[in-house]
Amino acid sequence: MPHNEQFASDNYAGICPQAMDYMARANERDASAYGEDPWTQMAADRLRETFESDCEVYFVFNGTAANSLSLAAMCQSFHSVICHELAHVETDECGGPEYASNGSKLLVGTGPDGKLTPQSIEQMVTRRTDIHYPKPRVITLTQSTEVGTLYSIEELKAIREVADHYGLRIHMDGARFANAVAALDATPAEITWKAGVDVLCFSGTKNGLAVGEAILFFNRQLAEDFEWRCKQAGQLASKMRFISAPWCGLLEDDTWLKNATHANACAERLEDGIRGIAGLELCFPRQSNAVFVDLPGDVQTALRARGWHFYTFIGGAARFVCSWSSTLPQVDRLVQDIGEVMRNR
Ligand SMILES: *Cc1c(COP(=O)(O)O)cnc(C)c1O
Repeated sequence: MPHNEQFASDNYAGICPQAMDYMARANERDASAYGEDPWTQMAADRLRETFESDCEVYFVFNGTAANSLSLAAMCQSFHSVICHELAHVETDECGGPEYASNGSKLLVGTGPDGKLTPQSIEQMVTRRTDIHYPKPRVITLTQSTEVGTLYSIEELKAIREVADHYGLRIHMDGARFANAVAALDATPAEITWKAGVDVLCFSGTKNGLAVGEAILFFNRQLAEDFEWRCKQAGQLASKMRFISAPWCGLLEDDTWLKNATHANACAERLEDGIRGIAGLELCFPRQSNAVFVDLPGDVQTALRARGWHFYTFIGGAARFVCSWSSTLPQVDRLVQDIGEVMRNR
């Protein structure tokens, strides 16, 4: 019997019970529209508490909008945004950041394990400074990265130094920010504003919501008129409470962190299992909730025939992503199947 099981992505997962519970609570009676409701107030306050910061908070529908609109708020159309070549803003947002900013150009840099380095940033900033080139204004970092790796606090601070030197702002794509907090054993504040991050896009969707990302402006000046930008872009939810109330569920009793810790633990188990199978190599250090394995094409095909869902990613590797809804027995079944398929080749 083939399974029908997935490690394709954390956005294949459903809504976690705590978020569902708050969704139901917000449905018990009517409330004001467009974010003027008590749920939205509560979610924003809980985020400010979680981050130990009096930041400005906005909620939008998805990550592309969160990144695109916040980047647009951080620079002018003649500015540029420095990102890694694997960054979601570059590879998976269909030009959304450029569109929202009326043309701010993404400057694509490199670095091992999906991370920009201070050197790579400095190179991009200094290679051209003339009037014909879009002026670098923002660095965007993905935490955890598209390949599941992490920027340490020291790495973030070193990037902040370069940013200060060249007058750059720092944006963080936190599609998997919760997994980074869980893995780094740091506080949310320590890996954001205390390390020089100006704006964070914090994903609720990949952590266990149906829909909804929070944008946190630690640098409050950058949030000027941001609500109009969201409205114009079609990102102001009229029944906002159905985004924000589930956020209250995530933020209560550290559910967001527990979800992420669980997903990371599942990925660690998967890593251990794969290390025990002869002939397989991990493509990147496993540091959060994703495992990238150099699985031969025929092995990937055989696994799919057994009912497993996963993505073929960068350079043909197999990507397995764990979520709040993954289970350890499910990981064990996957490891077992990979082992069998490898041995039967
Ligand atoms: C999933 C993801 C996003 C958000 O994608 P949407 O589909 O627009 O919600 C942003 N950045 C990264 C790194 C992601 O993995």
